[in-house]
Amino acid sequence: MGGLVLTRQRRAILEAIAHRDDHPTAAGIFALVSARHPGTSRATVYRTLEKLAALGIIRKVCHPGAVVRYDPRPERHHHLLCRLCGAMIDVEAPGIQVTALPAKPVQGFVIEDYAIEFRGVCGVCRRGNRRKRAAGTGRKA
Ligand SMILES: [Zn+2]
Ligand SMILES: [Zn+2]
Repeated sequence: MGGLVLTRQRRAILEAIAHRDDHPTAAGIFALVSARHPGTSRATVYRTLEKLAALGIIRKVCHPGAVVRYDPRPERHHHLLCRLCGAMIDVEAPGIQVTALPAKPVQGFVIEDYAIEFRGVCGVCRRGNRRKRAAGTGRKA
């Protein structure tokens, strides 16, 4: 089962991203992995990411207009996308429901998955803007 050969790389990658909720890019993950495991090739990391995503162990997140990111949460969930800093944040708000997939084909189309991206401005950017404005008045927000 050729998969065994990949075990070390897989483990290194999964360790690198397991506790991250910032949806790193392939380049970012390569930097993390090669810092801990010098000598790991970029191609190996990229290939292993593709494989882990294909196996459903991690999730490949491709939103239009945004770079491809990888997500250690394989289950369906949605994202907040900041148009200022590009941050991608998991939606945790209970008010935003995750709709179950229809059991039957829709217009002859079998729906397998979906993802919603909510675009706007993240908390950090909003605070940054406030701070800039507050600095002008000489008061701290
Ligand atoms: Zn932001
Ligand atoms: Zn996510």
